[in-house]
Amino acid sequence: MPIAEEINPIGPRPVRVFFAIWPDPETQKRLGSVVEQLRLDALCGGRTTKLQNIHLTLVFLGDVDAGRLPALSQVADGIRNSGMSAFDFTIEEIGYWKHNHIVYLAPRELPAELIQLVSILEDGVSNAGFSVERRPYAPHITLMRNALCRNLPELPAPIAWQAREWLLVKSEQTSGGSVYAPVGRWSLE
Ligand code: ATP
Ligand code: MG
Repeated sequence: MPIAEEINPIGPRPVRVFFAIWPDPETQKRLGSVVEQLRLDALCGGRTTKLQNIHLTLVFLGDVDAGRLPALSQVADGIRNSGMSAFDFTIEEIGYWKHNHIVYLAPRELPAELIQLVSILEDGVSNAGFSVERRPYAPHITLMRNALCRNLPELPAPIAWQAREWLLVKSEQTSGGSVYAPVGRWSLE
């Protein structure tokens, strides 16, 4: 019998997690109306993101052992206690990535605080022994998957987003798509 099973009869339990920010209800409504427009215009034919799933990923960890979740929370506690600033940004662009068939929204200008939060989180989790992809951060809000777009709708107006907290979120893959559940949240000052 492998040693790991003697110590822990259940064995490692992988959970898929990522750090992200979620829109407040008003911002969620505005972002959701763009999703609805995409669905109604039927320009791209893909699968739209559910309202409650709209988010901006900061750092994606992928599968980690459930027993290591407290270590991730500890990293976030340390960052919160070092006094990260709240920030505002404006969503101004709608785009389509052909390579992964995703329609997304993105800010045209990135606030320094967002870049700082992502970089401090990446450093924190990798110092704690988690592996994170170090490809350049491309902040985006996924609106549609499996899309094949010829045209994109216009964004009727820029959408302001005020980030006041960030979350650690568990992602469960189900037949109806990913189901997200927060496992921790940390405020920005
Ligand atoms: P689905 O997989 O059902 O299409 P999803 O991509 O939103 O939905 P996850 O795959 O769990 O669900 O991803 C959670 C978040 O992390 C999403 O914002 C996704 O874009 C992002 N993400 C997923 N894989 C990576 C990766 N390899 N690198 C960076 N971000 C990723
Ligand atoms: Mg995915």
